[in-house]
Amino acid sequence: MRINCLSCGHNMDLDDAYDDYEGPFKCFMCNATHEIRTENGSIKAVRQVNIVPHLSTEQVAEAVLNPRKKAAQGAGTSGPRSTE
Ligand SMILES: [Zn+2]
Repeated sequence: MRINCLSCGHNMDLDDAYDDYEGPFKCFMCNATHEIRTENGSIKAVRQVNIVPHLSTEQVAEAVLNPRKKAAQGAGTSGPRSTE
């Protein structure tokens, strides 16, 4: 059985163990997490799960690239603020 990663489009071969499966599935290419449901060896549903949905794509990318650095922005840091 094959499944396409919704994030990077990589085509993955699923083991027979996934013939009847419902739960999380991680793309080994880009580490995107999906929620999949399979039945009798065919895919019934694929949904991409956003791990940190309240962050922008750039912030998520930064958090993935720098896991030790917390993506804290605008919390008392100095910088140009021209709102109001
Ligand atoms: Zn992927």
